[in-house]
Amino acid sequence: MSVNQQAHTGPPYGQPQPGYQGFQQPAYGGQSLPGAPQSQYGAYNGPVPGYQQPVPPQGYFPSLGFPSKGSPVSLNSDTSLAPNFIGSLRAPPTSGAPPPASGASHPSGHVAYSQFEHGDVQNGIPASAAPMQRPPASQPFLPGSAPTPVSQISTFQQYGPPPGSVQQLRNHMAGMTIGSTAASAPPPAGLGYASVPPVSGSVSATGSGLYTPYSASQGPPPPSVSQALPVAQPPFPGQTIPTQRLPAQVPGFTPPPPSTGVGPSSYPPTTGAPRPPAMPGPPLPGQTLAGAPSSQPNHVSSPPPPSTMAGLHPGPPMSGLHGPPPPTHPPQPGYQMQQNGSFGQMRGPQPNYGGAYPGAPNYGSPPGPPPPPKRLDPDSIPSPIQVIEDDRNNRGSEPFVTGVRGQVPPLVTTNFLVKDQGNASPRYIRCTSYNIPCTSDMAKQSQVPLAAVIKPLATLPPEETLPYLVDHGESGPVRCNRCKAYMCPFMQFIEGGRRFQCCFCSCVTEVPPHYFQHLDHTGKRVDFYDRPELSLGSYEFLATVDYCKNNKFPSPPAFIFMIDVSYNAVKSGLVRLICEELKSLLDYLPREGNMEESAIRVGFVTYNKVLHFYNVKSSLAQPQMMVVSDVADMFVPLLDGFLVNVNESRTVIASLLDQIPEMFADTRETETVFAPVIQAGLEALKAAECAGKLFIFHTSLPVAEAPGKLKNRDDRKLINTDKEKTLFQPQTSFYNNLAKDCVAQGCCVDLFLFPNQYLDVATLGVVPYQTGGSIYKYAYFQLETDQYRFLNDLRRDVQKEVGFDAVMRVRTSTGIRATDFFGAFYMSNTTDVEMAGLDCDKTITVEFKHDDKLSEDSGALLQCALLYTSCAGQRRLRIHNLSLNCCTQLADLYRNCETDTLINYLAKYAYRGVLSSPVKTVRDALINQCAQILACYRKNCASPSSAGQLILPECMKLLPVYLNCVLKSDVLQPGPEVTTDDRAYIRQLVTSMDVAETNVFFYPRLLPLTKADVDSDSLPAAIRNSEERLSKGDIYLLENGLNIFVWVGVNVQQSLIQNLFGVSSFSQISNALSTLPVLENPFSKKVRSVVDMLQGQRSRYMKLIIVKQEDKLEMLFRHFLVEDKSLSGGASYVDFLCHMHKEIRQLLS
Ligand SMILES: [Zn+2]
Repeated sequence: MSVNQQAHTGPPYGQPQPGYQGFQQPAYGGQSLPGAPQSQYGAYNGPVPGYQQPVPPQGYFPSLGFPSKGSPVSLNSDTSLAPNFIGSLRAPPTSGAPPPASGASHPSGHVAYSQFEHGDVQNGIPASAAPMQRPPASQPFLPGSAPTPVSQISTFQQYGPPPGSVQQLRNHMAGMTIGSTAASAPPPAGLGYASVPPVSGSVSATGSGLYTPYSASQGPPPPSVSQALPVAQPPFPGQTIPTQRLPAQVPGFTPPPPSTGVGPSSYPPTTGAPRPPAMPGPPLPGQTLAGAPSSQPNHVSSPPPPSTMAGLHPGPPMSGLHGPPPPTHPPQPGYQMQQNGSFGQMRGPQPNYGGAYPGAPNYGSPPGPPPPPKRLDPDSIPSPIQVIEDDRNNRGSEPFVTGVRGQVPPLVTTNFLVKDQGNASPRYIRCTSYNIPCTSDMAKQSQVPLAAVIKPLATLPPEETLPYLVDHGESGPVRCNRCKAYMCPFMQFIEGGRRFQCCFCSCVTEVPPHYFQHLDHTGKRVDFYDRPELSLGSYEFLATVDYCKNNKFPSPPAFIFMIDVSYNAVKSGLVRLICEELKSLLDYLPREGNMEESAIRVGFVTYNKVLHFYNVKSSLAQPQMMVVSDVADMFVPLLDGFLVNVNESRTVIASLLDQIPEMFADTRETETVFAPVIQAGLEALKAAECAGKLFIFHTSLPVAEAPGKLKNRDDRKLINTDKEKTLFQPQTSFYNNLAKDCVAQGCCVDLFLFPNQYLDVATLGVVPYQTGGSIYKYAYFQLETDQYRFLNDLRRDVQKEVGFDAVMRVRTSTGIRATDFFGAFYMSNTTDVEMAGLDCDKTITVEFKHDDKLSEDSGALLQCALLYTSCAGQRRLRIHNLSLNCCTQLADLYRNCETDTLINYLAKYAYRGVLSSPVKTVRDALINQCAQILACYRKNCASPSSAGQLILPECMKLLPVYLNCVLKSDVLQPGPEVTTDDRAYIRQLVTSMDVAETNVFFYPRLLPLTKADVDSDSLPAAIRNSEERLSKGDIYLLENGLNIFVWVGVNVQQSLIQNLFGVSSFSQISNALSTLPVLENPFSKKVRSVVDMLQGQRSRYMKLIIVKQEDKLEMLFRHFLVEDKSLSGGASYVDFLCHMHKEIRQLLS
């Protein structure tokens, strides 16, 4: 095998990054090395051990076909395990029949995918229940159908910068009572990720015990106090940003005809050229918010504050603490005084906060007597609902046109259309800030992390244009000679078009003769608008053979279904369910373009303590089973007939899927292996010389004697100790090594778990995680209630857009470079992110650091290049470019941040931190970093004011509330009901989430269903996540991307209950329902359509849980009311805001 192919176009990766010029980094040389040896991965010349040809295991010679080793022994049929053994034992093939050449490794027709026309109707899934979005496939790029030119690029729509005002929170801290809002009920019976155990009975109150100072209040939630504020938050007083004139039409970029895929219906239709929006934005020192002191005697049942309070908080505010609330709330007398700092309370320690953070001694006084019964009015502090609503109103009506550098896109919660005019859509890349400090000193001072959340294969709504596929023929894409950046809109053509200067490293490269084009009088190539790579932010190149492993075009990938047939799996009905589903699902494998059938081949394995392989060759009358009981050194006992084309082997496969449940119906085997299952799939793909995906359906901790055997090491006593991190770490490095082998082969693992007890997700998840796969978890799986959710997940997982054998590199312009990466992938060097598989839902978060000064003039550029194999085996490069502004004023940084992206980054950073640091350290570091971010703003950007004021940047006014949600999430602050597996599962899940997913995961969406307009398609307006916002007479829906809760108040009208649940009274509502009954009345239809709409927006099918007020499941629900104090000790939003204020003040003093 050749491992040193010379790529004639030069290695795409591995050359020195421009940013390293001048930095003494021997590894990066700084000059191009034309003769440098390259790896066999033609185009990559960096150290990529992951792609080195795997060393065959001893005794196993793939090139010889079937191993002679041990075949006679290993092929013993274990009839006790397979009572209905089908077919005769086959002797191992003597010749290594190569896999179906399925050559078409270079399909010539590049047409948009269309499999979703089928996907969304298959198996009778209601279209609305699981709308399969159109995959982000490439479109053919044909010169004839190229975008027509826009006359002047300079006339692109320009959006003004986002509002730059600050929001000022003038809070008299003494007036804030750290009030507990919800502690009257026992802690939840179970955690809601997957699992309400069927028997959920005993509810312990241990959780609230930790927080006694604030948990004493009993009874109904306090009435919502909406005190009038001196200044409410006027959204964006209108500062109009001058906009440039836009051409009447942008004909070249009119979207293609909408696909037939089901997409969000709420995207506004594309309407020609966008109008310059009147971009409202307040002047910088802007709104003021006052948290007026108020007292709520009915809210607190605590004794008076400790004596220290008196000393620290002398004066008028204290006197008001215990009185009844004033009937109305005019601006408090103390308010002005607070404003001018005449109160000194803020400077003292805040005894109030001690209790909210039991593990955090630096938070003030130790937990002691409860706080004074005063609280900050929640209506006076920044509201996520308001911010989301404002953004929708301000930015949802106009398309987001990407022609201008450094524009902050609308929020992820806003529906908007994107028009690519030279920068990647925010669906592909979102940044923490779109204006980066010019120097590292500024960046360090602000502590704002510079990061991009990249979703390279993101699904687009049907109205938007898919990336065009550019084919430069045998010469491949045009690239910079030095840094190997790909041709993009920011390259500068010079010398009449004969050369171009790289926008990343400034190196000048000859334009290849075939690519030459004249320049117009503005210096732009005359074919500018005919070429996606010159005019668009995102596009694809067809890769040449140089970009392929072993310099060979890849074979189409394979899917291998590997089903646990141990006792639990069979008994629960799972095995039968999977087999039944596969019979139809196999007709919906991903297809490319106009191909009539999927190129993906399939194979089947069942296992318990041993593995059973199936020969489903089309020429067989019946499938044949081969058992491998020697799991210590896994190999695949058959090559020919294991991976087959579904259509060709249809009858044999159907017969197999009918027989599997029968064969194992009487099994007594309870033990399973796990690592050998992955090894078997890996070996099968190796033998077939293709990439692929393993779908493993697994039920238990693998305790059978085999490599990768695990022991139960769950130990809740480790929580809140220095050893807690071990719960997140794999218990053996075996799986890390296996993952590495899998990545080298392009073997992606998707794991479906059905545990009834601890099965060590932290360890079992290593391979799925590092291969770019997914984990799904259905704890206490019950056929009746969970099958619909599982089947929906499985269908989507099998059908979704996925690239194989992927490598991603992010290049940057001089001055910054990618330094850190978060996500589900493997890295064998410091720059290349390798993924055996990358699907349309996965994101990679990249952090950047300065290595030189940036300039305001040139800004900063990112180019994300993803090399992958499509589902038909076509090798492609997907390129995303993004240009950002650079600033010398910190205020510009703070005006162009995106808090949702910041939170996505911070959560991933923290969730990785728990692998190596105590959880408390991680939490403290998070708080400290955010306090520094806000203190830097306060110090450098806000107008002078007293220390008693909390002043937040407009773009970050939700940072405290969202940060608090991350801090009190189950990974960082688990309640007693959260299992170790839940935490490991969530930790891995969040690491691949995009910004929209983390947004709703950390701050769930709460909708009053009873306020829904049954005649409209719209959702009811969301409300804040607090018990105070719930009314006993209403029904609410809460979703966080994993669960949907339907909460029913005790006083809901009987007619509504009848209409929604089909029962006549509250007490008759069953909370065992996993779906809402289908009833023919407007309310039922409306609610079900809302649920369906939400299900369609998420990448996983959410578990529906009915919660009756005052029922025991309510505790589970309350866990998600994230503005309230949590049972696990998480602070309420109000308390946390006060705490942040104190931290900021300490930093400033
Ligand atoms: Zn370059």
